[in-house]
Amino acid sequence: MNVADSRKLGAGLDRAGCTAVDAIEDADLVVLNTCSVREHAEDRAIGQLGRLKKMRSKGKAFKIAVMGCMVGVRDDDLRRRFPYVDAFARPQDFGPIMEIAGIDDSGGEFWPTTFATPDSVTAFVPVIHGCDKFCTYCVVPYRRGREKSRTVEDIRNEVAHYCARGVREVTLLGQTVEAYGQDFAADGLLAAPDLGDLMRAIHDVPGLERIRFLTSYPKDMTARIIDAVAELPKVCEHFYFPVQSGDDAVLERMRRGYTLDEYLLKHEMVRARMPDAAMATDIIVGFCGETDAEFQHTYDLLERLRFDKVHAAAYSPRPGTIAYRTLADDVPAEAKQERLRAIEQLEARVSFEINQKFLDTVQQVLVESRREGRWSGRNLPNKLVHFEGDASIGQMVDVRIEHATAWSLQGTALPATVPV
Ligand code: SAH
Ligand code: SF4
Repeated sequence: MNVADSRKLGAGLDRAGCTAVDAIEDADLVVLNTCSVREHAEDRAIGQLGRLKKMRSKGKAFKIAVMGCMVGVRDDDLRRRFPYVDAFARPQDFGPIMEIAGIDDSGGEFWPTTFATPDSVTAFVPVIHGCDKFCTYCVVPYRRGREKSRTVEDIRNEVAHYCARGVREVTLLGQTVEAYGQDFAADGLLAAPDLGDLMRAIHDVPGLERIRFLTSYPKDMTARIIDAVAELPKVCEHFYFPVQSGDDAVLERMRRGYTLDEYLLKHEMVRARMPDAAMATDIIVGFCGETDAEFQHTYDLLERLRFDKVHAAAYSPRPGTIAYRTLADDVPAEAKQERLRAIEQLEARVSFEINQKFLDTVQQVLVESRREGRWSGRNLPNKLVHFEGDASIGQMVDVRIEHATAWSLQGTALPATVPV
């Protein structure tokens, strides 16, 4: 979501006549896009701000703007703490930045119709902003506001704009992407579209080869959406489907809104329709009150479901959240680290085993980059593939896989079939 926001701001500034520079020293305006999901992310942004302040006190005359989740919906506290920052901008509210850049945006000329200029063959397209779920640990709803879907027409125009400029793959983004359109329905719109309808509506955009989507949320996932993923050839059968914990009591304290059985049911619905679908998940370890036995349930679940990818993080209390106010962060730091290590070891083993099944197969790879003589891209289930042979960026290439580690696949491009 942040990458999408940064690109969009960049596109607006480009259109207003600004030029991007490589070094901060050469800039007139420095914009820091921030994340708040864990304390560490905020600490890094604050460290960066300190460095910018120092550079400015040594005579660099650039303006500084802070945007994104750290600003959230209120900025008075930040203004007090960082008086030298020239502008604070909420997520997707670029007005204050345009103002200090001296760009008159009163007619709304630059947003929201400006689309980023793609600098790669893949693009991120936010389709629903914000989140209404209020999981107890999570700061996102406070910082990004309520769920708000963009219209199908707006999204299709954006996708078409990208594809006309060389993009071949789009990732539809939402904190809970299957909630797409629910706010239209709540507004009384008859026949409000869902994520499946949106996928159908962009499917024939010229040049578009692949559609991805994230993040999936169990309660919003429906049979109708699962059908759309299974039926539409361009939609990659890859689900990013966070479970967060494998223990019902922890899920309850997190107020995730589902029990483990309910999660498993949705997981099974996907598997029944698409037995080979790839699945990734997120886990929080050491959430308030998590016992060894509760953690073990998470571990056992991961061992059983064998996700293609697991993003695990130690719980980080976030001021303002329900957990911060009502639950004690009582799992010792060492226990959190130990649990994290256990999951990482399991994940390395499972990923290694899963990736071996690609050996000697031919994978369709969308070529994204070239570095040190090797091409890189991703196959349909979103595995990173490095390969040698004939290719070009943006091309779809058949690659024979010769080597597989836990983190990537390696191989050689098959010679392109020459039409007779
Ligand atoms: N909307 C997505 C997740 C958004 S936040 C979902 O519901 O799954 C991305 C990930 O950051 C989460 O999946 C969670 O694993 C992690 N996260 C969020 N808040 C956190 C916190 N306070 N401490 C540690 N990890 C957190
Ligand atoms: Fe945060 Fe929960 Fe919303 Fe995901 S669903 S963004 S974890 S509140």
